Amino acid sequence: MDAALKKIIEQVKSFAPAADFAKIEAAYDFAKKAHAGQKRFSGEPYFVHPVAATLNLLTLHPDDDTIIACLLHDVIEDTETDLAAIEEKFGSTVASLCLDMEKLGTVRYQGQERQIENLRKMFVAMARDIRVIFIKLADRLHNMETIEHVRPDKQKRIAKETLEVYAPIAARLGLFEFKARLEDLAFKTLHPEEFAKIQKSLAGSAIGRKNFIETTKKKLQTILAEAGITAEVTGRTKHLYSIWRKLELKHYASIDEIYDLFALRVIVDSTEKCYAALGTIHNHFTPLSNRFKDFIAVPKPNGYQSLHTTVIGLNRDSPTEIQIRTHAMHEQAERGAAAHFVYSERKQSVTAEESKLKWIRGLVELHESMQDNSEFISSLSNDIFEDRIFVLTPRGDVFDLPAGATPIDFAYVVHTEIGHHCIGAKINGKIAKLDAELKNGEVVEIITRKDAKPNRFWLSFAKTTSAKSKIRAYFASLGRNENVALGKDLINKKLARLGKAQLDADFSILKNYKKQNLSKRDREALLERIGNGSVSSSAVVKDLLELDEFAVKKSQKKPVASLQAEHKKDEILIEGVNGIATKLAKCCTPKPGDEIVAVMSRAGATIHRRDCKQIVRTADERKLRAQFASDVKSHLVKIEVTAKNRVGMLHDIAGAIAEMQVNIADLSLKTSDKHEIIHELTIEVEDLEQLEKLLGQLERISGITRAVRI
Ligand code: MN
Repeated sequence: MDAALKKIIEQVKSFAPAADFAKIEAAYDFAKKAHAGQKRFSGEPYFVHPVAATLNLLTLHPDDDTIIACLLHDVIEDTETDLAAIEEKFGSTVASLCLDMEKLGTVRYQGQERQIENLRKMFVAMARDIRVIFIKLADRLHNMETIEHVRPDKQKRIAKETLEVYAPIAARLGLFEFKARLEDLAFKTLHPEEFAKIQKSLAGSAIGRKNFIETTKKKLQTILAEAGITAEVTGRTKHLYSIWRKLELKHYASIDEIYDLFALRVIVDSTEKCYAALGTIHNHFTPLSNRFKDFIAVPKPNGYQSLHTTVIGLNRDSPTEIQIRTHAMHEQAERGAAAHFVYSERKQSVTAEESKLKWIRGLVELHESMQDNSEFISSLSNDIFEDRIFVLTPRGDVFDLPAGATPIDFAYVVHTEIGHHCIGAKINGKIAKLDAELKNGEVVEIITRKDAKPNRFWLSFAKTTSAKSKIRAYFASLGRNENVALGKDLINKKLARLGKAQLDADFSILKNYKKQNLSKRDREALLERIGNGSVSSSAVVKDLLELDEFAVKKSQKKPVASLQAEHKKDEILIEGVNGIATKLAKCCTPKPGDEIVAVMSRAGATIHRRDCKQIVRTADERKLRAQFASDVKSHLVKIEVTAKNRVGMLHDIAGAIAEMQVNIADLSLKTSDKHEIIHELTIEVEDLEQLEKLLGQLERISGITRAVRI
């Protein structure tokens, strides 16, 4: 048996004696075979890497699947091995962990500050299972440990990414050991001189002096032993990066002023002993009163428990920080989220979904415990709950979009020009429709063409306001000539529909618009405004021809009367119910205009006013929403749209109607001669104005010859 495998098995045995060692060994052999012949930048066999990553991971006491997935984590990406083979051999959990690892590999920091926040969010959102993050952190830790073999420019990028993305995630999961190691390695890579300087001055300080920690430890141990308390005392210096940060932020002039450079930790058997130890320490040394914290009585929201105190006199010239805790509390503190999630999952198998829920809950808890930069977690959990998605460019840049966003939204969020010249999209390498719904983690490539232009129809499915407004802005800024031509076309369609002659070369009939005696130039300006949508062609034609058909009489301002409703005036509409006997309650005598509710019984529905006292105690499931038909604000109207028969026409029509937030209640198609299709639609509009606007919009769609109310 390989020495490395032996080491892995021994370590797993120490925390999980009942683990499936045969399976772990099989995974080891499988990965070794798959990576055979491959080399790391260092020249070592590649397989050294997954083994080292797994040893890092084992400090978190992971479950079998996580250990196996970690051994296999680079197998899919770097070798020919098929995911199906992994699934067959090691099960679907291991396969999906491996797949997510590969996906996360595409998330890359490209050196743009504004992306850091998104990267962190994406990283977390994409890992469907928190165990993937544990593997990823263990993987990154080993990559950082061997970073000197990587090309220098790549070193910087990876180190920066480690510092900005990986270390904060480790911290937020409570994996402080991982965080410290990641930060120090990144610090060393990014600022080698500073790193050496701090290392040197630490060695020169009292704390760094040989045996200092040892003697202090012994002193404390003796005092506790005299009081009859058996304790394990450890001491450690703060990691270099955090010292450097403190100096950088100018909170301290020199390293000697940082008195929590090192911390002593006292670990005892029980909670009572914690307080006993605290009492003993305070008897010997003077505590700084504002530095004492009892996280045993009041644990941090993430479950962290310990007593923290800072005393004077233990170290000759500066205060010393001491943490006191039990072994169980220590375990929790050291392994953070891993202790929370993975360890408890060992006892019962949990589905990925459940573990994700737990993990989100854990994040929310962590959020409460983090005072600084708490925004991250809160925005993160909001995003998870509010359905944001994270989508990648083929280069690995991450973009954050609302759920339901389409390639068009993506194109515009990448760059306005990419949106404007978009002709197609590929999702995960496959050609996709521009209105396809994007999903978390998809890699989207936008295909552009130099001479391509935006399409008005995009407005009907673009999801983000920014994409919509950019598309609108494009059309608003279209060349004057194009708008004039479009305006001319719209007016001509209207005129044709009324059996009138088309515009002549001078647009003479426009002269009398609003009786202003417009010059030719003004007439052109009017057409331009019609073309860009700021003036409605119907309004212009209506004004010019003083047509009754379009006239909205003063008395019709209230649309209820003009668009005669399908229902009788005193009819009552009940949500989800048709043709049921209704009667008005005598107690509150509701009348049109009142807010009402239907109370259902076997005999039918009784209509009460919503504020009626008689129904306060009535069970909610017997109450249905109701409305007098005469109070209903929308009206069903039939329209007829005549259009050339072309692919996508119906889609375009429905899109334009949806864009105006109008419902389609019914639709039928008839073919007419001349390759035309007549669409008969029943739509729900609020008033005449909306109807007119809608008909105008429909006529703008290319291929539509006529859109009228019937
Ligand atoms: Mn790796």
